[in-house]
Amino acid sequence: MTGLHPHYEQNGHFVTHINGHAVSQMTAIAPALRPRDLPVDGAASSVGPAEQTDEDAPRADLHAAQRAAAAFLQALGLDLDKEELRETPARMTRAYAELFDARRPTLTTFPNDAGYDELVLARAIPFRTVCEHHLLPFSGVAHVAYLPGERLLGLSKLARLVEFFAARPQTQERMTRQLADYLAAKLSARWAGVVLEAEHSCMTLRGVRAQGTKTVTTALAGPLRADPQQRAEFLTLTNAQD
Ligand code: ZN
Repeated sequence: MTGLHPHYEQNGHFVTHINGHAVSQMTAIAPALRPRDLPVDGAASSVGPAEQTDEDAPRADLHAAQRAAAAFLQALGLDLDKEELRETPARMTRAYAELFDARRPTLTTFPNDAGYDELVLARAIPFRTVCEHHLLPFSGVAHVAYLPGERLLGLSKLARLVEFFAARPQTQERMTRQLADYLAAKLSARWAGVVLEAEHSCMTLRGVRAQGTKTVTTALAGPLRADPQQRAEFLTLTNAQD
């Protein structure tokens, strides 16, 4: 196994070998979002998930949201004159504004000059988002892998991509698909696979109250999408930590 791009050994990430394949493992907490990343070298270029951004969406009106939150809570029978609830509409507004703050990451890519042609896998990237049906949180981990084509993505960017797609009301199925399609389209990855494992509070804390239930979703994309070998290897690697 040769040909790892030097970038793979940066930023505290490391590479191991499982089943004879190089696997870049990234189990650290996703890095905090920064407004912009500078390219690491002159050959790097940046792409952004343009068509999936909320750039054209109206900006949040936090004052209106706070008034609406107060009206909503009062309509549910809560007494906002109580000392302990007085600041709740404001806190609620800030909390949801933070959950929906989809700051666009600048995604630096690198030419795959060394012809690295094994799976790149970031395993167990933690994420949290909000289900679009109940506006209750769901959270878990994402395993994101791709088989590089002509471009490589900085490893930390995989976590940022997960964070970006999580920062809006979501369904787990759509988020899984968006991540896989993004890697296939923007990186021209030959193969991309995403597994999300998440616990939905709308399912564990209300409704059927199925505590401990994890929902697992898988999406594959790219020209080699149907390749059974890639799929089997990916699923083996993502399950290897259990
Ligand atoms: Zn829900």
